[in-house]
Amino acid sequence: MTEETTPLIEVRGIKKVYNLGDSDLEILCGIDLKIHEGEFVAIMGPSGSGKSTLMHVLGLLDRPTTGQYFIGGREVLGLSDEETAFLRSKTIGFVFQQFNLLSRMTATDNVALPLIYSRTPKRQAVAEKYLKQMGLQDRMLHQPNQLSGGQQQRVAIARALVNSPKIIFADEPTGNLASSQTGEVMTILKDLNKAGITVVMVTHEAEVAAWANRVIHIRDGQIVEDTSKPGIVLAKGAKHQQITHGSFALTPAEFGEHFMSALRAMASNKMRSFLTMLGIIIGVGAILAMLALGRGAQKSMEDKLSSLGSNLVGLTPGSSAQRGGASGARTSRFTIEDAKAIAGNKLLVEYVDPNVSGNVQAVYGAKNTNTSIKGTTCAYPAMHSAKPRYGRFFVPRENDELAMVAVIGQTVATKLFGAGNPIGHTIKINHKNFRVIGLLPAKGSGGFQDQDDVIVIPLNTAMKRLLGNKYVSAIWLQARNKNSVDAAKTYITALMRKRHKLPVEEDNDFQISDMSDIREMVTATTTTMTLLLGVIAGISLLVGGIGIMNIMLVSVSERTREIGLRKAIGATRTAILTQFLIEASVLSIAGGLLGVALGAGSALLLSKLAKWTLIVTSSSVVMSVGFSASVGIIFGFWPAKKASELSPIEALRYE
Ligand code: ADP
Ligand code: MG
Repeated sequence: MTEETTPLIEVRGIKKVYNLGDSDLEILCGIDLKIHEGEFVAIMGPSGSGKSTLMHVLGLLDRPTTGQYFIGGREVLGLSDEETAFLRSKTIGFVFQQFNLLSRMTATDNVALPLIYSRTPKRQAVAEKYLKQMGLQDRMLHQPNQLSGGQQQRVAIARALVNSPKIIFADEPTGNLASSQTGEVMTILKDLNKAGITVVMVTHEAEVAAWANRVIHIRDGQIVEDTSKPGIVLAKGAKHQQITHGSFALTPAEFGEHFMSALRAMASNKMRSFLTMLGIIIGVGAILAMLALGRGAQKSMEDKLSSLGSNLVGLTPGSSAQRGGASGARTSRFTIEDAKAIAGNKLLVEYVDPNVSGNVQAVYGAKNTNTSIKGTTCAYPAMHSAKPRYGRFFVPRENDELAMVAVIGQTVATKLFGAGNPIGHTIKINHKNFRVIGLLPAKGSGGFQDQDDVIVIPLNTAMKRLLGNKYVSAIWLQARNKNSVDAAKTYITALMRKRHKLPVEEDNDFQISDMSDIREMVTATTTTMTLLLGVIAGISLLVGGIGIMNIMLVSVSERTREIGLRKAIGATRTAILTQFLIEASVLSIAGGLLGVALGAGSALLLSKLAKWTLIVTSSSVVMSVGFSASVGIIFGFWPAKKASELSPIEALRYE
């Protein structure tokens, strides 16, 4: 052995000390060792002497407490996580006593696993090639529990080989095997060594050690003997390739693998996954239904408002203070003269409609119905887009003459006449005969009440012949256009104060409002409702998120050995983090999609059964699913990070 040759691996003064509370336990007490390319080294020693510990340090699965480690002349203990992972992936292959195959995967998938982290294409083909080399061509689709110990160890060797490592570390590779299978595994290792791969193997059996060319004895953390078989030709002046690696961005192959492993994990714990998702399902369902309800309520309010008419201003008696209950304050009433005075301003006001309303009983033949009545003027159809669908509206003369004519709404028509034509028939309203002259257009039920459950009669008839009112209940007016609404309001306020002789210091004794006031009120109500439901839905999502976090923590600790193994074969911290984040996201997105189904389903049911207007928009679906995905990512992050930071050997030793 010439001094100029750079050893493939070299350690100097390696110490490993475990701190056990008050005392320190020194397991490796200063190991110096050089191994050249092409060697086949056996490390022997009694149990507990530190063989495995040394092996883990050499395999970059564990860090020594102090000391230096060179691979191909390059110091490797100070390397970043990515570079270390790259070395584990490309330069080192590890074979464990317990095989450490992933139980839910086929042999091929197990062997292909390191290829994901080394970004190798055609992974299945490469894996199959190495399995064939191990004589396992007819066992490729078997899972580990369907294989014998020797077969499992051969799968593990294939897995160690797929990235063409320079060196294989094998810790008691035959320790769990029947003696008949020992020879078969050792032959493989010997052949690999002959093909140029450096092999370092731990064993406590002399027959196994005999396969090696060099035997190192360890006792109490120190090398006590180092003997080489004579006549070994080593590769001279071996040139070692520089450690370089490409980008570590997630590749589609890696994403696919993580996605599949997430599905596998979910499938193997169906009930648990479902219960975990339940919180998200309910949360997303609630959000979606809430949004649908809010939108629906808003839309039906808006429909109702626009069906009332546009540029309308309403005048109702009573101040807001009186509404609050202060008794004894003066109450104003509106008269038809007030309405006429308002109509006088032709510049601002287009129509004026003073009206009275009340509840009456309407009878036709044997059928009767309780409905609301409205006494109004001929301006009504123009202001409320209520031109009769059949028949006609009453004319001014009929109002003047107190004619007993009625225009009825669709609901009243159906209740009294069924499908028959009501026009021309006489009905009794509070025992008085009215002739039906028209049928109002259907407006539908908007939120509070059925707008079609109404009878409209001339104002004077209503006041003098039917209800006996001296005053009108409200005055509605339509401003000339959108821009004159505010001016009309100001003008009418002043006019009414003057007509009612209100002193300046007193508040209005009436309420004046336009559609924008009402619209604002409605919007405020629906917004409050939406917010309230939103908070409930948010809390439910939060609880769901905590459920996901909890189950991910369980999953991480259950699969700690798997994490260790993945790291040992070349997974970076980022890769582990990504894997568990994908898992958490798959869980929460699946929950989110089920939640969308639940939310949309219940929205459909509610709109069918309760006749509520519910609107499920695609943006609310996207928002719900996006929300659940971010819950998964946010709550999955901590467990995933915890998993990614485990040291490979701690994770592998985890029970
Ligand atoms: P072997 O030569 O049998 O492979 P190991 O290298 O596995 O021995 O272990 C050497 C010693 O280190 C043992 O006595 C073991 O108890 C101790 N040891 C291993 N891991 C730890 C640990 N995490 N904490 C404390 N002691 C440990
Ligand atoms: Mg050991």
